[in-house]
Amino acid sequence: MKIPFIDLQKQYQEYKKEIDEQIAEVLESSIYIGGKKVTLLEEKLAKFTGAKRAIVCSSGTDALLLSLMALGIKKGDEVITTPFTFIATAEVISLIGATPVFVDIDEKTYNIDPNKIEEKITKHTKAILPVSLYGQVADMKEINKIAKKHDLKVIEDGCQSFGATYRGKKSCNLSDIGCTSFFPSKPLGCYGDGGAIFTNDEELALKIKMLLNHGQNMRYRHKYIGINGRLDAIQAAVLLIKLKYFSNEVKQREEIGKRYTNLLKDSDIITPYIEDDRSSVYAQYSIRVKNRDKVIEHLNKQGIPTAIHYPMPLHLQECFGYLGYKEGDFEVAEKISKEILSLPMSAFLNKEVQDDIVKALL
Ligand SMILES: *Cc1c(COP(=O)(O)O)cnc(C)c1O
Repeated sequence: MKIPFIDLQKQYQEYKKEIDEQIAEVLESSIYIGGKKVTLLEEKLAKFTGAKRAIVCSSGTDALLLSLMALGIKKGDEVITTPFTFIATAEVISLIGATPVFVDIDEKTYNIDPNKIEEKITKHTKAILPVSLYGQVADMKEINKIAKKHDLKVIEDGCQSFGATYRGKKSCNLSDIGCTSFFPSKPLGCYGDGGAIFTNDEELALKIKMLLNHGQNMRYRHKYIGINGRLDAIQAAVLLIKLKYFSNEVKQREEIGKRYTNLLKDSDIITPYIEDDRSSVYAQYSIRVKNRDKVIEHLNKQGIPTAIHYPMPLHLQECFGYLGYKEGDFEVAEKISKEILSLPMSAFLNKEVQDDIVKALL
């Protein structure tokens, strides 16, 4: 038995005819950057989330970077975020010269704990950057409330939560800016790198659009220092097809996630806790076990792959050594990073395979 961690092949076979046709159309058109498919995708993505504007770009990382640039965040500024996330979230804050300020996570949802945010706000704080980890939206109502009180901007890192809902609204349309990633293994993935930025602020959208094209407002006229952060037409073509089926896939993911939880409920394994006012897209189905190394070995022996998201919290990473954090600073993040374990998950995981995974676990 050989189970893929995320079954991208099954998905491709399912949509192959349409995807191949769309890619061929791009190849025949000779328009490889920008063009109609990119514009159409932006319209469809905006509609999907309910945000006024969607701007596609080169990756989730660049989406976050462009958001910070558009808000004018710079050297000396502070941005509050979580230490329990993929490196990109905090990396981009440092990259533009600002300082990531970490706040510990909630032990149940693994998202930033809103109760610990205010004590970290200083006169240098410019924004809060919560992550909607594993596909469950962070506590955006509380976070937005704090931001409003202290005149801060909120950027949701929705790189794992595209398609998730929070109090009836879609992830990426819950704050000043929402960012997502179309990395192949994300809930909505393309066949290379890609990402998108969402906002209801037209002016901000316009600035982001310029920033990702070298700060250009007219050809060879550069209003801002920008980057090359465009999404290419082939990726847009792939996403146009996958987006058609995405709502259905989100439903399947949710069913599979809930089924895992139900099958594991009588064990001492800690399963994902999803708040009543939100739905998860289960970008990862991550459980907590005490003897993780043994569990991994046991599963791997039976052909079941696993992954750890994430084995080391960001405040302990070598690249952030200059920030001066030490072991013990964020106890919840540190504890969870030692116990967390992700199981195979995709919209195409069938019941028999899932049963085998659960059987191996129990
Ligand atoms: C994947 C991911 C990113 C980065 O997205 P890329 O498209 O790989 O650049 C950022 N933040 C989180 C939480 C992610 O999971």
